[in-house]
Amino acid sequence: MDLTFTVKEEAFRDEAREFLRQSLSGEFEQLKGRGGPGDEDALFAERKAWEQHLGRHGYACLSWPRELGGRAASFWEEVIWNEEYARARAPGRVGHIGAQLLGPTVLAFGTDAQKQRYLPPIARGDELWCQGYSEPNAGSDLAGVETRATLVDGEWRVTGQKVWTSLAQFSDHCFVLCRTTPGSRRHEGLSYLLVPMRQPGVRVVPIQQMTGSSEFNEVFFDEARAGEGEVIGPVGGGWKIAMATLGFERGVSTLGQQAHFLGELREITERARALGKLADPALRQRLAEAWMGLRVMRLHALRTFSAEATGLTRASSVSKLHWATWHRELGKLAMDILGPEGLAGDHSSLTRLQQLFLFSRSDTIYAGSNEIQRNIIAERALGLPR
Ligand SMILES: Cc1cc2nc3c(=O)[nH]c(=O)nc-3n(C[C@H](O)[C@H](O)[C@H](O)COP(=O)(O)OP(=O)(O)OC[C@H]3O[C@@H](n4cnc5c(N)ncnc54)[C@H](O)[C@@H]3O)c2cc1C
Repeated sequence: MDLTFTVKEEAFRDEAREFLRQSLSGEFEQLKGRGGPGDEDALFAERKAWEQHLGRHGYACLSWPRELGGRAASFWEEVIWNEEYARARAPGRVGHIGAQLLGPTVLAFGTDAQKQRYLPPIARGDELWCQGYSEPNAGSDLAGVETRATLVDGEWRVTGQKVWTSLAQFSDHCFVLCRTTPGSRRHEGLSYLLVPMRQPGVRVVPIQQMTGSSEFNEVFFDEARAGEGEVIGPVGGGWKIAMATLGFERGVSTLGQQAHFLGELREITERARALGKLADPALRQRLAEAWMGLRVMRLHALRTFSAEATGLTRASSVSKLHWATWHRELGKLAMDILGPEGLAGDHSSLTRLQQLFLFSRSDTIYAGSNEIQRNIIAERALGLPR
């Protein structure tokens, strides 16, 4: 595997870096470093304007076909863009669920009409999405979904409750995993339905997290309406589509995260230096291990995602397990370096490293918990019994 970039790719890097440098001055300068873990609902209107700015210049959904609002960028250009984005300390993307989860799913499984309807507004940064999978009785055991949708007079009517729905309070649409075959059980009879959020049958209740922010919500559907044609894939065949979305969530969309992690590791190292903690051999060792872990993560991701998608589920489970555990440990390391200073303050005064520590506790839960990733690896990669 060749890990050097071509002249054309390096030219793209220069272009991306210059675009970000210019864009993050003036009205968007205040967004630098904002919207990351624990800060997701900050400056929302400004970050939506930023999303639209990216869209106007074709950077919101880089790899999508041009006619759908992308730049037809190569995999490596996407890697470069993500690296530059993090290096520039550009803000957390309010459109990432549409751009990185729903979008690739519609590209892979949607009809032409669905692609035309849904993808360009995501690429323009105009329409935001949330993911309606988890329910009070269906998290790791997602096949326990109870939300149901019934076809009445050519329209789906959706009733049920979702929970932990990230950014639902800002979203225009939700992709909802729901039961469309009455009396069906487990993976059968589920559909992947696109439901508009701004309608009387949808109620969103934000949940305050321990960082003080409300990144996720409860969502109640009470006879909410969706068009008959708004199912991705076959009616009753939603499980396969839902799993494909999870593959995107655990996989390619994490590339940008790694460059962001590097920024965090640098900040923690600088903090250790400033506090005179680099002389402590135990902390030095952990910093070095964190750096090595990040290199392994990068090489694993590049190897996995540049190869053809065979075994992607297994590979993305390895990647999810690794980065989530690594990042949770990084949060602990930050607190150990800060010492008593790490314990001071309340919600209104959390520093970025405190937010990192608190939010990173959830990394090993969302997008499939560590235990579930280990189950997948054990059964599908190692062939162990259930
Ligand atoms: C920050 C954050 C954002 C989220 N955003 C979204 C979102 O936008 N949309 C959405 O639909 N969901 C979202 N989620 C929900 C997330 O997908 C679930 O929390 C996750 O799937 C776990 O489900 P659960 O919370 O019901 O826990 P449970 O499934 O009840 O699990 C509880 C514990 O039991 C363990 N466990 C469960 N089953 C097994 C098993 N078979 N073997 C071994 N151990 C097991 C789990 O690992 C966990 O430790 C989000 C969660 C977080 C933390």
